[in-house]
Amino acid sequence: MTIPDRQESAKPTAHGAAWVWCGPGRLLERAWVVVEEGRVREVCQRPPAGMSRNDLGQGLLLPGLVNAHTHLELSFLAGALPAPQGDFMGWIEEMVNSRPGYDRDGAKEAARRAARFAARRGTALAGDITNTGKAAWAWAEAGVSSVSFFEAVGPSRCEPPEPGLAWQGGLLSAQAVALHAPYSVPSWRVRALKQKAAAGPLPLSVHLAESRAEMEFFAGQGREGLRMDAFLQARGLPKDGLDLRADSPLEHLMALGAVDGQTLLVHGVQLAKKDLATVASAGASLCLCPRSNLGLTGAVADAPAALAAGVNLALGTDSLASSPDLSLWAEMRLLLELYPELDPEAVLAMATIGGAKALGLADHFGLIAPGYATPLVFLPLEGADGKGILQAAVTGDPGGLALELIS
Ligand SMILES: [Zn+2]
Repeated sequence: MTIPDRQESAKPTAHGAAWVWCGPGRLLERAWVVVEEGRVREVCQRPPAGMSRNDLGQGLLLPGLVNAHTHLELSFLAGALPAPQGDFMGWIEEMVNSRPGYDRDGAKEAARRAARFAARRGTALAGDITNTGKAAWAWAEAGVSSVSFFEAVGPSRCEPPEPGLAWQGGLLSAQAVALHAPYSVPSWRVRALKQKAAAGPLPLSVHLAESRAEMEFFAGQGREGLRMDAFLQARGLPKDGLDLRADSPLEHLMALGAVDGQTLLVHGVQLAKKDLATVASAGASLCLCPRSNLGLTGAVADAPAALAAGVNLALGTDSLASSPDLSLWAEMRLLLELYPELDPEAVLAMATIGGAKALGLADHFGLIAPGYATPLVFLPLEGADGKGILQAAVTGDPGGLALELIS
């Protein structure tokens, strides 16, 4: 396998920057980070004697970003669907109708372009949902580590493969288990998938409480709920085959034992404060996809309330079918626009260690510390200092970020 965009130097190099954000609560002024063979060896105030140096100068060095939820194989749908304008069910119907128009070579090229874009925007690790298992190569080619979540939908016995991890230097290719959503997988299978995921080292990923339609479907009321019911019925997933255990999707998954410290809940737009408390006490992570959530449903989960409840938050871009690109900078910036009371450092944490924790990889990604994987990201930022530099990093123009990758 060739990895053209990632050149790991075998020799240790000390990279110096005016500011180094190692992770939450650890912003260092004028520090050096020694990188060797795709991993951080040490963080120090002075470069070790005799070691080759790369002084990056004014700006901020930070961990590579973690995109905890995307669907790379849907990249060929970029621009193919009309803007959803909050009509979630309308969008899902459009997407299902568009997918048969699939051109294998075009789809491959679209995945390659999207993974390269994500790499250039500083993505070190991606949690990638797949129904085919055929997109992981594009991440590896772009030098981005990935967890491929094989997604189960419906009662089909088409089983996700056994979860596992494979490293090549600092580059990870891992396999994990996903279930599409509590409204599209019957209870017996939710339990079986949770058991399969729990036997491995990585979490189970599940879309949850994304739309009003999903909430109404579980509650058995409302026009959008009926629309979802009819949609699922037409696709051979009648509601009475699901064996629902509660009138909310979160309570249903809780009743099935599917929500714990090894569960990654995605979206959670419709979760109320009491639900966020439930998620926090279960120890599950929640991934927000701000641009996709806003476009598809007109809202984004209450991030300040989730943090206050103690939920581990991650960020994802979702797919190019519902988001304009795979830049986490744009997700961070939108989240801070929607919730200006959020601390920029907390938002950076979501896009780094929060995502790594959500993917079960907090010992390898999301921080600058000995043993952690690269790439690291350097943002040239003039004139900012202290806390101001984190604000500048999060609110900078994501299209204009002249960032540099350090491997
Ligand atoms: Zn998704």
